[in-house]
Amino acid sequence: MRDLKERIEKVYRRLLKLYPEPHRPRRTPLEQAVFTVLSQNTTDKNAQRCVENLKKLTGGDFLKIPLLPKEKVIEAIRPCGMFNQKYTALKALLERWPEVEKKLKELPAKEGIKLLTSFPFIGSKTARVILTFGFNKNTFPIDTHCKRVLKRLGLIPEGWSFDDFSEFMEENFSGEFNRVFHYNLIRLGREICGARKPRCSECPLRDICPYANLFQP
Ligand code: SF4
Repeated sequence: MRDLKERIEKVYRRLLKLYPEPHRPRRTPLEQAVFTVLSQNTTDKNAQRCVENLKKLTGGDFLKIPLLPKEKVIEAIRPCGMFNQKYTALKALLERWPEVEKKLKELPAKEGIKLLTSFPFIGSKTARVILTFGFNKNTFPIDTHCKRVLKRLGLIPEGWSFDDFSEFMEENFSGEFNRVFHYNLIRLGREICGARKPRCSECPLRDICPYANLFQP
């Protein structure tokens, strides 16, 4: 595992050179939770649009969401798709939010993941994003961009699930390292290592990437 750790550190350093100032959006824990639930299976732009719709609908108080007529909330979050599931998730989470927020601040990250995933339609990736960006906890969320880039780089050991890899990151690196690495993998995935046509000739990881060596001229 020392070899894996070293390879991760190498990728991290190269990405940090490429993206020296990672963008970190600042949201309150509550806004981060609402945004993260809405952003599942859609773009950040769509999710943010729905957050703005909900702000208008609630006058900025998201805790009113469970008290509002379902149709009104659905109308506000329709642009981000899967609106019935997302409504159910938001309602259940926000009904208990003050108590949940207090617990999430105090609990270790692992317990926080357990608590959040006990709510409907909140999986471990969503839980980790809420904890990383809303509560500054040491978790390593893996979204579709991270999955693709990590696989191409050959960093997921044979037989490991993505949850196994998240746990390895959480046990071996600091919260700051994991936040920056997560964010920069997403940026690389969006800007250079696209799903259809990775632009390996422009990528600073080309010489250490098995995918580039195998499939790119
Ligand atoms: S070298 Fe190509 S496949 Fe590898 S990470 Fe970079 S863009 Fe992706």
